[in-house]
Amino acid sequence: MTTTTDLVSYEDALASYDPVMGLEVHVELGTKTKMFCGCSTELGQDANTQTCPTCLGMPGALPVVNAIGIESAIKIGLALNCEIAEWCRFARKNYFYPDMPKNFQTSQYDEPIAFDGYLDVQLEDGETFRVQIERAHMEEDTGKSTHVGGATGRIHGASHSLLDYNRAGIPLIEIVTKPIEGAGERAPEVARAYVRELREVIKALGVSEARMEMGQMRCDVNLSLRPHGREKFGTRSETKNVNSLRSVERAARFEIQRHAAVLNDGGTIIQETRHFHEDTGTTTSGRVKEEAEDYRYFPEPDLVPIAPSRAWVEEIRAGLPELPLARRNRLVAEWGITALDMQSILNAGALDLIVATIDAGADAASARKWWMGELARSANESGVALDELAITPVQVARVAELVLKGDLNDKLARQVIEGVLAGEGGPDEVVDKRGLKVVSDDSALGTAVDEAIAGNPGIADKIRGGKVAAAGALVGAVMKATRGQADAARVKELILEKLGVSEG
Ligand SMILES: [Zn+2]
Repeated sequence: MTTTTDLVSYEDALASYDPVMGLEVHVELGTKTKMFCGCSTELGQDANTQTCPTCLGMPGALPVVNAIGIESAIKIGLALNCEIAEWCRFARKNYFYPDMPKNFQTSQYDEPIAFDGYLDVQLEDGETFRVQIERAHMEEDTGKSTHVGGATGRIHGASHSLLDYNRAGIPLIEIVTKPIEGAGERAPEVARAYVRELREVIKALGVSEARMEMGQMRCDVNLSLRPHGREKFGTRSETKNVNSLRSVERAARFEIQRHAAVLNDGGTIIQETRHFHEDTGTTTSGRVKEEAEDYRYFPEPDLVPIAPSRAWVEEIRAGLPELPLARRNRLVAEWGITALDMQSILNAGALDLIVATIDAGADAASARKWWMGELARSANESGVALDELAITPVQVARVAELVLKGDLNDKLARQVIEGVLAGEGGPDEVVDKRGLKVVSDDSALGTAVDEAIAGNPGIADKIRGGKVAAAGALVGAVMKATRGQADAARVKELILEKLGVSEG
């Protein structure tokens, strides 16, 4: 067995081989009820409280398809530039597993509802890569097994297992790419960018929250290598249920290095499923992969075929929202930023927050500045995501407004933000409590200006002599004396006035 110690370096692997990937993403739809029965899909309920004869696979129970599930599948298909089937059926995928009480999964086989599409994804440098989509089909989730008594939570070493069928029958859409070729060393980056773009699309469509950390979206990474110049694909491995963007990239990268090591040694890659381990960034062998015929697929006799009318499909198409890539391209133009700037905003998870801040009245430049500067730094320091910070877009917009009105300068605004984050209240409250308003009142500033002039006679003389630029030093002294709260522009005017000098 190949271990991490005899991996080939990434560069060496790419020097000999081209990676070919296939990505299979499962998305749990956010429907209120399950795919084939009326049971609730709400998360976090007591085990086995959301079940019925249909999703428990009782003899004689009959499924009925969820119309919202079909509509969601069509939305996803259209957003991925797919053809929508005029007629398709569900199929039974037969296999036994304790978390699947029917002994088959209701899925789609050779008649997917959506097929032959593509998704353009953006790489870190702003370049676009087109990923071809093979199909998007409907199926249902299985129940959940919890293995008790072992050290790892896996079945090996467990004393017993618990089964919860609340998840059994929750609608899933599986989206399968065609082989992704030609990405070369950027293959892992393409995998990550694809899953991210797909997640953005799913969220924009409103069909699922697509939270990977909650298992609402998970990715199987199929990977194979072939020597440069060869057409035939190598044997692939399938790393199952990878549940973060970073892990998708790491899993692809690791498999490239592992495959290269096996092939360089003259070994053969076994077609198998593998598990990815977050802690080590490695994969280990799962089970030998079944072929499609092992599942003895056949058309589901209890469900009628699905024949979405063209009128309905066009109605759904007309109702699609602006899709994420188009939206980002529009914002890049509107905000006058580069594709690279947009990548940073996206990486920071700041896009929706910035847009919400602009919607709350801030100008685009200020909204970007605060979220990508001060707030990104705070989030980073406390190790939380931007949207978990204790400040709302409306509050950030208010800070930006106070700066625009001249009530706050940048330095004071940072203190206000700090106060809001510390739970001292909204921006106005923090300004009041901490006494942070910019002082532009002449009587309050006059004394500080007088003191600065008296304390720096040499500089004052230079200014009297016409060196207006020297006023900066006195402004600095006043700002220091007022702990940054003075209105710098007004201070400069006062200094020049008092010294009898005019600016122009
Ligand atoms: Zn049910």
